[in-house]
Amino acid sequence: MAKYSIIVPAYNEEKSLGLFYDAVTPMMESLQEDYELIFINDGSRDATKDVLLALAKKDKRVKVCHFSRNFGQQAALLCGLKEASGDAVIAMDADLQDPPEVAMEMIEKWKEGYEVVHGKRRKRKGETWFKKATARLFYRFTRKITGMEILADSGDFKLYDRKVVDVLLSMNEHDRLLRAQVAWVGFKQTQVEFDRPERVAGETHYTLKKMVKLAESGIFPNTDYTLTLPIKLGLLLGFCSFACLITFIVLSCLNVWFGGLVAWLFPTVGMLGAILLVCQGLANMHTAMIYREVQNRPKYVLSEKYNFDE
Ligand code: UDP
Ligand code: MG
Repeated sequence: MAKYSIIVPAYNEEKSLGLFYDAVTPMMESLQEDYELIFINDGSRDATKDVLLALAKKDKRVKVCHFSRNFGQQAALLCGLKEASGDAVIAMDADLQDPPEVAMEMIEKWKEGYEVVHGKRRKRKGETWFKKATARLFYRFTRKITGMEILADSGDFKLYDRKVVDVLLSMNEHDRLLRAQVAWVGFKQTQVEFDRPERVAGETHYTLKKMVKLAESGIFPNTDYTLTLPIKLGLLLGFCSFACLITFIVLSCLNVWFGGLVAWLFPTVGMLGAILLVCQGLANMHTAMIYREVQNRPKYVLSEKYNFDE
């Protein structure tokens, strides 16, 4: 008999969690197999902790980890993967935007022999055009510069086989984007499509700043494109300057007046300065990332755990 672990990051989800539990429990029970529901309270400031405690008290299959502060959804997912003991692990959002019946389809695919099953969003309700446009841009851009097949329109709603979980846990980088890591691991992967409903309660926690941070964690650990970019730009600009120089020499030999070209000097120098700063900035971002790796601080800090004692 297989065991399933459902891992659920939760940040200020007091209104969603009861509904989530009520929706997921009958589905999982209908399988008549073993399962655990692991909630990771990512430093919530509302009553999430009390709600989870009440659930854990009435149902031993509910396990809870509390972070000492908000470490972010990716850290919460990592904690869930680490604590999970199932043969298959399913990551879901707490707000019921990842429908439990789709998780059942994922389990079917796993039973067919797939080792990663992605939840692919066909339609996304209740999301602004800005969020959809930036998401599309992110996937295109990241795929292009990392060369990795990160599945578009799939968030972190996925099923992982135990083998995959073990590989993901062995990847020790500090800045992590699970959906990029899973593109790297390989194995037999497939997807199930679904229409993503609106949040059952509350509001999204993803501000623009958090989305940029997420994008950084997807891009920088997976490419050295940003580090080699200055060489490419340098060669291109060097070639242009050389061509310019030759042209000027020829023009002066031919006694052609080209004094007006001096006016081009200012924007050109400005542009060069901007390019140099951007390249330096990209390199600095890599350096900052390497610094975090060297520091090797824990990726999250647990303050309490419930129902993990068996
Ligand atoms: N989440 C988290 N820590 C955070 C932000 C979000 O654990 O700092 C959780 C949140 O409670 C939810 C999931 O991650 O279960 C997805 O977050 P959200 O619904 O806000 O993102 P969206 O669906 O809008 O992309
Ligand atoms: Mg959501």
